[in-house]
Amino acid sequence: MTAIHLENLGKTFSSFTALRNMNLEIADGEFVALLGPSGCGKSTTMNMIAGMIDPSEGAIRFGDRDMRGVPMSRRGVGFVFQNYAIFTHMTVYENLAYGLRATGVAKAERDRRVRDMAEFLHLTPLLKKPAAGLSVNILQRLAIGRSAIMEPAIFLLDEPLSNVDAAFRAVMRTELKHLQREFRQTMVYVTHDQLEAMTMADRIAVMDHGKLLQVGTPIDVYNNPSSVFVAGFLGSPGMNLVKGKGVESDGIKRVDLGEAGVSAPLPAHLSDSVPEGASVFYGFRPEHCELTDGEGLRLPVTFVERIGARTIVHMGSDGSAVKCVFDNRVPVRTGEVVSLAIDPSNVRLFNAETGAAIGGAN
Ligand code: ATP
Repeated sequence: MTAIHLENLGKTFSSFTALRNMNLEIADGEFVALLGPSGCGKSTTMNMIAGMIDPSEGAIRFGDRDMRGVPMSRRGVGFVFQNYAIFTHMTVYENLAYGLRATGVAKAERDRRVRDMAEFLHLTPLLKKPAAGLSVNILQRLAIGRSAIMEPAIFLLDEPLSNVDAAFRAVMRTELKHLQREFRQTMVYVTHDQLEAMTMADRIAVMDHGKLLQVGTPIDVYNNPSSVFVAGFLGSPGMNLVKGKGVESDGIKRVDLGEAGVSAPLPAHLSDSVPEGASVFYGFRPEHCELTDGEGLRLPVTFVERIGARTIVHMGSDGSAVKCVFDNRVPVRTGEVVSLAIDPSNVRLFNAETGAAIGGAN
């Protein structure tokens, strides 16, 4: 069994609490990304799973085995860090073979596994090359291979792609996912890059300030964020969050969005949860904006950002600042006032005081 159970896990450094009350079940063979901004406690969580630091509170179990007091070397975990740990005086072959040799794997088996892994990671032509002369990209690929070749039941990766260049990162996202499917390891992947988390993970665990905020499939968390933090953190740009107040006329609930006007009627699953006068954030994704000649939110265009296939149109100001993503033919200009229609099924509401989502999922 290689499922990972984190139970009320907490870590305090002197008087600073880096992680509080974390509960997370990672299934055998699952790929979970710990996602959050710098300092939110991702690496601390990972280091406790690896056995590099001890929890201050709570427990870690691998299957039904309590990991308390079990040293890293006996946990059956593979670990890859942001900075590749490669023996630069050895060749690529020797680096890949190193762990197998150290654990007494017979020569023929060792050779087969090295060649298979090299093939898998496109390192075959480099097998005889000394690691010293390789690029950062290739060294990081080698570091992943060197850890993966040991076929650990649990594979832990802490920001492994943050030092490689953007094009290579895109390639490695696909390779890492293939690697995990091939070897069926339980994988925990730490990143602050939502693209990595969204594209690779079976589930993402969003963290902030030492707390686990939401866990779910990437699409579920993206579509139904549990808080304004998650709504704004996921997506590029993040979800629009316009402050407003619940209003009702003729039995129809809407949100008064100040200068932008009044929203379209709220769908049933939201209208029941918004009392008149309640302060809310009216949320919608930038890709859910539609320009209309009819009724809609009225917003002045402040900036038109053309980035190839997409155009990001910035509108409104401060409390009602909105970004919308259109294709590159959108006929808007800075200074004009546009009318925006938002399909009510794409609207999410959040309590303006607590930041929590209102009304459940659509
Ligand atoms: P980053 O990507 O920047 O490393 P992170 O989410 O992985 O961010 P952690 O490294 O887990 O964050 O750190 C969480 C908090 O705990 C940070 O404020 C960090 O300064 C603090 N921290 C981590 N290790 C220690 C330590 N050994 N002593 C004191 N504080 C620490």
